Amino acid sequence: MPIPDFSQVLGLQFNTEIVEDLRDDEGNKLDGLCDFQTRTIYIDKHAPNKEQVYLHELGHAVFERASLTQHHDWCTKLEELLVDIPAKVISENFILIPKFANSLKLDENKDETNPRK
Ligand SMILES: [Zn+2]
Repeated sequence: MPIPDFSQVLGLQFNTEIVEDLRDDEGNKLDGLCDFQTRTIYIDKHAPNKEQVYLHELGHAVFERASLTQHHDWCTKLEELLVDIPAKVISENFILIPKFANSLKLDENKDETNPRK
């Protein structure tokens, strides 16, 4: 599945960046991250299923844009389930074709840096 270089989420654009060695603020390794401040979905270059990671992070963007993101522990866990399960099922069953954007190159043998840079 091609990963678009940007996505529209309830009227706002979120860009996608494939990055080397993605980590959170505590230094923990991550497969993906949705940064609401910069409206960027980051995906680690070495994540095993980048398409599923993209869909998962897009789900977080939808939750944030719909003002459904809550910062209570049980809400965070519920949001993780609600974004992860559809991401898995969609990536198991569908090939997505970006509507507006270019696709990011994901070939493991080629340079995966963002083609816009
Ligand atoms: Zn998540």
